[in-house]
Amino acid sequence: MLVDTHAHLEMTQFDGDREAVLERARAEGLLYIISVGSDLDGSRGAVQLAREHDFVHASVGIHPHEVKDITEATYDELRELAKDPKVVAWGEIGLDYHYLYSPMEVQQARFREQTRLAREFKLPVIIHDREAHDDTMRILREEKAGENGGILHCFSGDAKMAKDAIEMGFLISIAGPVTFKKSDDYRRVVSEIPIESLLIETDSPYLAPEPLRGKRNEPAYVKYVAETIAKVKGLTVQDVARITTLNAMTLFGIGDIEKEGRIAYRIRDSLYLNVTNRCTNTCTFCVRYYTDFVKGHNLRLTHEPTAEELIKAIGDPTLYREVVFCGYGEPLLRLDVVKTVAKWIKERGVKVRINTNGHGNVIHKRNILPELAGLVDCVSVSLNTDTEEQYIEHCQPAFTGAYQAMKDFIRLATEFIPEVVATALTLPTVDIDECRRIAEGLGARLRVRELDVVG
Ligand code: SF4
Ligand SMILES: [Zn+2]
Ligand SMILES: [Zn+2]
Repeated sequence: MLVDTHAHLEMTQFDGDREAVLERARAEGLLYIISVGSDLDGSRGAVQLAREHDFVHASVGIHPHEVKDITEATYDELRELAKDPKVVAWGEIGLDYHYLYSPMEVQQARFREQTRLAREFKLPVIIHDREAHDDTMRILREEKAGENGGILHCFSGDAKMAKDAIEMGFLISIAGPVTFKKSDDYRRVVSEIPIESLLIETDSPYLAPEPLRGKRNEPAYVKYVAETIAKVKGLTVQDVARITTLNAMTLFGIGDIEKEGRIAYRIRDSLYLNVTNRCTNTCTFCVRYYTDFVKGHNLRLTHEPTAEELIKAIGDPTLYREVVFCGYGEPLLRLDVVKTVAKWIKERGVKVRINTNGHGNVIHKRNILPELAGLVDCVSVSLNTDTEEQYIEHCQPAFTGAYQAMKDFIRLATEFIPEVVATALTLPTVDIDECRRIAEGLGARLRVRELDVVG
């Protein structure tokens, strides 16, 4: 289930075998291809292909190389084309200072005009930027070009530029060069961009990835980009496919996005269980306030699942390295369900972990840890901060004394659960070394986590 978000299928390089190319893309599991216009003819061709093929969508626009030839008539026709329901973006537009086929000032003026046209049609923009990072970012900012979302295609900037673009509403699209042997620095940049902001593309017929470098590129080869990103991120190819496909579908407004919240979901080789969306914390950084999706899975529950529903959703637990009670809320609010399901999993010989905020003993007004002994192999408790003051500020717990209660929970857990982990957050004000001292003082190991994990 991959999406090639940038291909030039209408180009003459595909004239001999275009249908076969599309067939191969389907056979490789491509869900959608965005055929991207780069001049008026190309935009016409992209729209035509999208009309002929369900899984092809189009974008229209004039590439910086070609903008010197734009007239009012060009814009009139692009406007007509943009009305087609299969047109999902405006592009590719931007700046190319490498070749300067169009003068710099002309490129900038036409770039601005086209971002305005995209806004008129409420379409996301597909941005081409070659050796023009500063001017590209400045114009995108000044024109509020990210208002309807957008893509920096075939991204070639650094991690700081990616972060700034994401803040403006852009996604970052990665193409074949990420697979090249000498692209270590580039892969390092990709490792720093959150997967929730990444897309994949071929830019075919150009930029064929390894191991096909130098050949004509085609959409089916987008899988090599996904494979490299999976390695860089320590995810599976299926994870990368699911997440980048959701990113593309959301941006372009295409396809059926999962509407039902999931109660069991896989990331890497772990299965996560989503038992509740309630929590006794209201953490300012909690992703459930920003999105329904974690790693491409919808976690917004319509109801709290029963133990039977959870067991059914798990299927065969031996397929996973571990099963983790986690999700969009505090699992120990539903202690009985957790115990029933954990027992069932343990009977099948599979490791059980609970990710918790450590409020369980306050919630149930007793020490619940003896009840979890033998059912749970690991608890991971969100210590989050090194002071109570910061905990109250960032986690906004529902009761007083929550920080101390959470620390007591960690210490007690070490008596009943084989592995106890305390997690700290990479918030700017949190002293990680101090968190480590606190965790180790309570008998637990510290794990530092990024800001995108719930629980
Ligand atoms: S991050 Fe975890 S503890 Fe904080 S509100 Fe979200 S689910 Fe609750
Ligand atoms: Zn381009
Ligand atoms: Zn292109």
